[in-house]
Amino acid sequence: MKALYFDGQLERREVEKPRPAAGEALIQVLLAGICGTDREILKGYSNFRGIPGHEFVGRVVECEEKTWLGKRVVGEINLACGECDLCLWGLGRHCPKRTVLGIVNRDGVFAEFVTLPVVNLHEVPKTLSNDAAVFVEPLAAAAEILEQMQVPPAAHVAVIGDGRLGLLVAQVLHSAKAHVTVIGKHAWKLDLARGWGMRVASFDDEGIRAHRFSVVVDATGSPAGLDQAFRLVTPRGTIVMKSTFHGQTQVDTTKLVVDEITLLGSRCGDFRRALELLSHGRVKVQPLVSKTFPLEAGLEAFQYLNSTSCLKVLLAPTPVKS
Ligand SMILES: [Zn+2]
Ligand SMILES: [Zn+2]
Repeated sequence: MKALYFDGQLERREVEKPRPAAGEALIQVLLAGICGTDREILKGYSNFRGIPGHEFVGRVVECEEKTWLGKRVVGEINLACGECDLCLWGLGRHCPKRTVLGIVNRDGVFAEFVTLPVVNLHEVPKTLSNDAAVFVEPLAAAAEILEQMQVPPAAHVAVIGDGRLGLLVAQVLHSAKAHVTVIGKHAWKLDLARGWGMRVASFDDEGIRAHRFSVVVDATGSPAGLDQAFRLVTPRGTIVMKSTFHGQTQVDTTKLVVDEITLLGSRCGDFRRALELLSHGRVKVQPLVSKTFPLEAGLEAFQYLNSTSCLKVLLAPTPVKS
């Protein structure tokens, strides 16, 4: 099958089609999304080697459990051992032995086919298009914030970063009735947020520097975001860190202590909540799709992402007869 393969460098490769192990399904990838984590992987994040990609919608083409056959699915990306303490506490997403689809020791979805345990799969409702379903994974990650903390209605929340994840996080918090301000650098991306009824601001806005927020989400994907979050948060406020990047960053621990700020790391989330948000139309994802490339043009898709200010870029693997 055709795939993109990362071996210190991303290349197109013909690789062997994966075979599902016991309890797994073979899934034909219909559409895959490129996210910031994939770009960090190409810079060395998590020392990954193999087929990257973890955001997808696909169709089950082979499975021992026949009820799954032919179903359109999305898949949770953490593969837990199911036996350790964390797994038994229901924290499989933090299992120390886990592999992660396209991120840690497990081939991902920038390929024509992928395998996943059926316990990781969620059926996609017929009313959701592939273009929408491919956002379930990043949207679940955005919605994870609501699992982790109480965001009181009418709370003043700032989301730093007007990129793919920032605009999803902003919509999730807006749907939870928070007063959301999206802070970014791109007028056309901020216009989307404004159209959804949020306040928007740029980084060099004098007014925004003077403003303080009880919750600040860093969705910039860069080390600078945390610095800006510290400047905007109120004493006793919470900074939610959504950026994963290759490398380290500094934290002003004095300000953290003196202002009694809570620093909250936040990663993957519940797919069911994301499917619900999409099904009820509470989150708009169609305007976030910038361009779809065939899988063969995957390298060009990454170049496109690096060279333009766009939002979500999708890869469509060409269907082949198996
Ligand atoms: Zn991602
Ligand atoms: Zn485990």
